[in-house]
Amino acid sequence: MTHAARSLLFFLALAVCGASGYFVTLALTGISAEEPAAAVPQPEPTVPKTPPVPPSKSPQPIASYQAPQQPRQQFIVCLDPGHPSEVNDGMHKVNGVSETEINWDVSLRIKKILENTGVTVVMTKSRMEERVTNRQRANIANSAKSHLMLRIHADAGGGTGFTIYYPRKQGTKDGVTGPSQAVMQASAVASRHMHAAMAEKLKGKLKDNGLRGDEQSYVGQQQGAFTGSIFSQVPVMLIEMCFLDNKNDAEWIKVEANKNLMAHAIAAGAISYLNNR
Ligand SMILES: [Zn+2]
Repeated sequence: MTHAARSLLFFLALAVCGASGYFVTLALTGISAEEPAAAVPQPEPTVPKTPPVPPSKSPQPIASYQAPQQPRQQFIVCLDPGHPSEVNDGMHKVNGVSETEINWDVSLRIKKILENTGVTVVMTKSRMEERVTNRQRANIANSAKSHLMLRIHADAGGGTGFTIYYPRKQGTKDGVTGPSQAVMQASAVASRHMHAAMAEKLKGKLKDNGLRGDEQSYVGQQQGAFTGSIFSQVPVMLIEMCFLDNKNDAEWIKVEANKNLMAHAIAAGAISYLNNR
């Protein structure tokens, strides 16, 4: 286990133990959906690489200090709280909660946890009701040169539990075909890290529906992949946290401690990928 991983585990243990006193600051980023979207994706999408660390001119660290190979400050995660979009405003309340509000609520908790580890978080929205198209969301992740894009959603349609979707086939939307093979490969790796973390932390709490390809979703069946995947030039996944039309799932996710648990599980999955990619 690396020093970075040990530090992370220590942090997460502290964060979980301190859950009763945990409160999310509603800090927002300056990213706006009005930011002009790139008209056409780059012809050859690439997965951004972490730039090499320049040699330090500072005095040698003490012997017992082992610097992390990749300081977490270099990592950028694009957090995308799902809806309102061109597909659905997500404002309809089911079992007392709307998808838009639960996506936003949990995303702010994930943001806080990631920022506390030194990860830079770029949001695709600056307020809950802000409407951003799925193509714009991908463009925000691309423009920020994110190392990972996490799309936070909640499902409906008669199931139960959490499901992780990632692009494993190209899709076509508005005449554009994507994502690239490199993005699909990295998305598969990232999704496996995410699934391992969520399966561990949510065991016995929510049903684990495992990893699925975008093409297995309703939208994916029509266009091959989610719009947010097609236009993504960075590793991407879409997390359906639970089914809001399932009463047990909805009641579970409405509990403060469970929102925090979900956020910790997703943050742990992201950091596991970032530190091991
Ligand atoms: Zn959704």
